[in-house]
This record gives sequence, structure tokens and C-alpha cells, in this order.
Amino acid sequence: MQSFHGKSVYKGIAMGSILIWKKNNVQIKRLKIEDAEAEVSRVGVAVTESVRQLQALYDKALKEVGESSAAIFEVHQMLLEDEDYLDAVHNMIRAEHVNAEYAVAVTGDNFAGMFADMDDDYMRARAADVRDISDRLARNLAGRGETGFDFANPVIVVADDLSPSETVQMDKGKILGFVTVHGSTNSHTAILARMMNIPALVGVPVDLENLEDGTLAIVDGYQGQVVFEPSGEACRKAETRMEKEREQLWLLQTLKGKENITLDGHKINIYANIGNIGDVGYVLENDAGGIGLFRSEFLYLGRNDFPTEEEQFQAYRQVLLNMAGKKVIIRTLDIGADKQVEYFNFGKEDNPAMGYRAIRICLKQPDIFKTQLRALLRAAVFGNLSVMYPMITSVEEVRAVWGIVAEVHGELESLDIPHKVPEQGIMVETPAAVMVSDELARLVDFFSIGTNDLTQYTLAIDRQNERLDDFYNPHHPAILRMIQMVVVNAHAHGKWVGICGELGSDLELTERFVRMGVDELSVAPGMVLSLRKIVREMKVGK
Ligand code: PEP
Ligand code: MG
Repeated sequence: MQSFHGKSVYKGIAMGSILIWKKNNVQIKRLKIEDAEAEVSRVGVAVTESVRQLQALYDKALKEVGESSAAIFEVHQMLLEDEDYLDAVHNMIRAEHVNAEYAVAVTGDNFAGMFADMDDDYMRARAADVRDISDRLARNLAGRGETGFDFANPVIVVADDLSPSETVQMDKGKILGFVTVHGSTNSHTAILARMMNIPALVGVPVDLENLEDGTLAIVDGYQGQVVFEPSGEACRKAETRMEKEREQLWLLQTLKGKENITLDGHKINIYANIGNIGDVGYVLENDAGGIGLFRSEFLYLGRNDFPTEEEQFQAYRQVLLNMAGKKVIIRTLDIGADKQVEYFNFGKEDNPAMGYRAIRICLKQPDIFKTQLRALLRAAVFGNLSVMYPMITSVEEVRAVWGIVAEVHGELESLDIPHKVPEQGIMVETPAAVMVSDELARLVDFFSIGTNDLTQYTLAIDRQNERLDDFYNPHHPAILRMIQMVVVNAHAHGKWVGICGELGSDLELTERFVRMGVDELSVAPGMVLSLRKIVREMKVGK
């Protein structure tokens, strides 16, 4: 039995076998080889295996998401069999007597660099594809096989770190818990774990080299502890606590269908946050009144190219239809910072959290923004849609957004395409937006306070930096006063205010938020009923 402590991201208990998650990118060393021809034939075998895998992925995608999305796997097959690419690999092996893995990695980098420098947007986006196929080839050369996102049985994933795009691709039904060596409690991976109600720990100092797949483990999100090879006694205790958790969950179920109303008659909305269509099931299961934050950028992660207007339209439409008239607030693309997408080709920034992200990208690259807006306006016809814009800092930005929305509206109108301009609000997640919230309130239909970024920017603390977790204090009076200020300014102009950052699910603050006049709290689906319980047991008492 061996135990380690870390920081808890989601309180809950999980017990099961571990799976050690290794990054896709194999560590590649340059090795001198004697027999170049044997190395060249290893490449041939790996290409055949890679093509076979891609064909299987194509067949799966064709069934699940249709031809246009599946086509990317055909493109990858073609790239893998491209003569120039393979000649370059073979030539390098023969000329420099290097191992196949190294030749593939260098050739992949060279070709990706060539594509990235091209003028044409489509060709530039192929850089990510070349990297992807080179990674696949290198994995197969190293005998590592598929990426391993499809776990056969539910497991506790133990990893060095997980990026949002890795997490988003995992089959949530197959994950009992997460344990990572690195990572901050405020990262998007942590948020995803909370969204899925998965016990998770970050900052756990385990040595992955000394662990084996299949080892039994208990993740205790209450104590921030993971135990490997637990004793029979520890397993029995964990079973009892899991049983208790199930009972408490069952008690909360009795609140389903009830109103979010205080003992003295004050009502608020409790909505849920989601990252993709699959999460709508959790929203309905937990009886949320609506979706207060659909992080649409997750549609852009874990893939090799921009989602098309049609793909986005189908996704938004599906969510609206599934929610059957309940409010759905979709946030426009909030990419950048920790949500990096290779095919955007942004390059490295010194300060990505303060960099080219969210609305800034949309205003600078209106084509990307307009594609999403067209999909949103078209989908609006199918339900109760609201749209909100992230990372706003000024009145000018909102005016610029309105200008682009008007253009999209005009274009759809002239083409006679059914659409609707929905209710539109902004995220208040920068101190600047708070300070001009009186002026912003005149322009928008609502505010949704993003406490994750608001805390980061107000306290000057990178939310990704695990060493600063102890300083990251969303209960800081500066944050709470800012929230109050935003509520006052919104209400003065007859606008409503929600909180969609993680602080909205902090049960210690629920009563305070209700008394402040916050109109809506949007939280991880699994938290909805816990909040409802507090609201129904409190009095505003004015
Ligand atoms: C926030 O910043 O509080 C928020 C809800 O947005 P995200 O966590 O996606 O940045
Ligand atoms: Mg944010």
C-alpha cells in the first residue's frame, strides 16, 4: 500500500484499476543504425499499420459523425502514402544512418513547417495533419499502437498532465477518476473533471515509471489522497463511503422538479455548464433549468481542422432541441491560453493568458467568427438560445461585435436563410469589464460573470500555474465586491446577471450570492441539486 497527497479538483471517491496515460508524442532519440534497409522496411510496416488504423477510424467516424467529418482520415491516409514524404524519410535513413523514428520526426517537422509557411489558409491547416500522421507513424514504430482513448473498461487515469483536448476526447463513461502529477485546480482539465463528476486530484508527486497499468487504487477527493494497492480494510472503508455518497445523491434526487425558491419566496435560476453535446444528458439528469454556459470552443479541440458552419449548426441545433425550450447560453469561441489548437497556427506567446484569445481572435479574424455566428443565428430558430461573448474589456469591443452580428444577420436575410438574432450578453471576466459595467449594461441583454478569469486577472495569478494554487483566492474581498458592483450596475439598467465561473458552485457562497441579487448560477451539472437544497433552506431576509 502506497499513498500520495495532491490537490483535490472534485470531491468524490473512486476505486478501480489504473491506466497510465502517456502523451501521444513519443520521446524520440537520434540513434546511429547499421542496417539502413532494415530500418526502411520498418517504416513500410508502420505505414501499413497506420493506414489500417486510419481506415478503421474513417469507418467509425462515417457511422458516428458523417462523411464530411470522416474525410479527414482519408486525407491522413493519402498524406501517409505521399511519395515525397516517404522519399524524404527513406533518404534520411539511408544518407545519415539514423533510426526510423528520428527520420519520421524530423521529416514531419520539416513538412509541417513548409505547410505552415504557405499563404493559403487550407494548406496552412495541413501542417497539423502532417504532425498528426508523423506522430502516428512514430507511435507505431515504437510499438505503441493507437492513441488509447478507447479504454476497454472503466479506469482511473494516472498521467503526468492532461490537456483539455486530451480530456475532451476520452470516453467519460470509462473514467472513474483522474490523478495527475502536474496541473492546476483552476485549469480547464480540472473544470472538465468537475463537469463529469469525476473524483480528481492534481499535483500528486507519483513516479509514473514505478507504476503499472492495472494496479488497484482508491482516489479520495475529500482528503486529496490516492492510495495504490490498498489493503482489504482500506477497500472496505472506501466501499462504505461510496455507498454513503450514493445515498446522499439519492436524497438530492428528491429535489428534482422542485423550484429554486428561498423560504421567503425569492427565486433564482440554477443552470448548468457544458462542453459538448454529450453533456446535455447530465444537464437533464440533474434537472438544471437551462444551460448557462456552453463552452463552444470544445467543438474546436481534439481535431485537425476548423469545424464547418454546418457541423456547428448541427451541434447547436441538437443541444437546443434536446433542451426543449429551456434556455441555452452558448459562449462564442474562447480559444487561446490553455486551450491551444494547433490548426489555428498562432505560434508561441510569452503570456498566452494575456494574449491573443477569445473575442480578440474573433475581432481580428472575423471569418472564423462569422462562421460561428451564422451557425448560431441559424440554430436560434430551434429553441431558446442566448449568445455571450468572452473576454470583453470595453464598450468598443461590444460595438464591434454588434457590427459583425449585424453583417451576418444582413447576409442571412439577403439569402433568405431562416435565422433569428438571439438574446446577447457578455462574460464579465476582466476587471476592466467590471469597472465599466454601468456602460456595458446599456448595450447588452445580460451579464455572466466568469469568476475563473476574473480572479486570475484581478489577483494577477496565472490560473494555470500550479505553484500559485495557494494564492488563488476567489473569496478575496476584491472579487466579491466586484460581483456586487456588477449586479448593481446590471439591475440599474434592467438587465440580469449570472455567475458561470467555478465560484458559482461554491456552496459556502450560495446564500451570499442570492442575497447580493445574482439572478442565475450556472454550475457543473452534478452541483445543481446541492445548490437547490441551500436555496430552498435559506431566507433572503430583507
Ligand atoms: C471563467 O473565466 O470564469 C469562465 C467561466 O470561463 P473559462 O473558465 O472557460 O475561462
Ligand atoms: Mg474565462
